[in-house]
Amino acid sequence: MGLIKNIFSSWLHFLAPELCVNCGLERIDREVGCCIFCSDSLKSFSLEKLESQVFLNGETDITLHIGFIFEKNNAIQILLHALKYQGNFHIATFFAEQLSKRYYVEFQQVEGFIAVPIHVRKRFDRGYNQCALMVNHLCQQFNKNSYSTLLQKVVNNASQTKKNKEERRLNVENSYWVSPKIKQFSHLGIVEDVLTTGATLRAITQEIKRINPTIKLSFFVVASALECTKKS
Ligand SMILES: [Zn+2]
Repeated sequence: MGLIKNIFSSWLHFLAPELCVNCGLERIDREVGCCIFCSDSLKSFSLEKLESQVFLNGETDITLHIGFIFEKNNAIQILLHALKYQGNFHIATFFAEQLSKRYYVEFQQVEGFIAVPIHVRKRFDRGYNQCALMVNHLCQQFNKNSYSTLLQKVVNNASQTKKNKEERRLNVENSYWVSPKIKQFSHLGIVEDVLTTGATLRAITQEIKRINPTIKLSFFVVASALECTKKS
């Protein structure tokens, strides 16, 4: 069976070679989403202690785990764009694998995962939630459940892209609904694609902590655009 599958996939590869989303070159066997050269070119986010900058109100029990530095006109932007707007589901697997390589222990510690939600209208237009795709992969890999229905986006805000920090904060405040069932949990992992000002993560934390003040939250974010000027 394995042999037949291999022959079949080799033929498929020959007929329709899979191309790297970033550079357009043919990917070799076992590379997912983008080629090894492009994945090596992504810049790791190395300053870990961003919490004090994102969670200004001194929320406790929050940890932030970030994969890469977000840069415009770079491979990371192209990959995220392909995932978010072009339905390239392989990129979700690629990012989930990259994050799990780096945060394997942290992923094991959570009880389950929640994808940062998008509004049902946006979900309908786009056809999928890119963070939920990553969560699906992580649930399989770590043998955990998705509890994404516990968190919903109830207000369809205007796009955040042209707003400043304060406007973003006001834009997402009171946009989320949290199920009372979240009281059953003590530690959940929340998966997001990009951190820009942190307004979304702050709003989500606020709503969840309102229902379950003692819960521990670990955020796993693919890339951060937030300047990291470490505050002590
Ligand atoms: Zn490439």
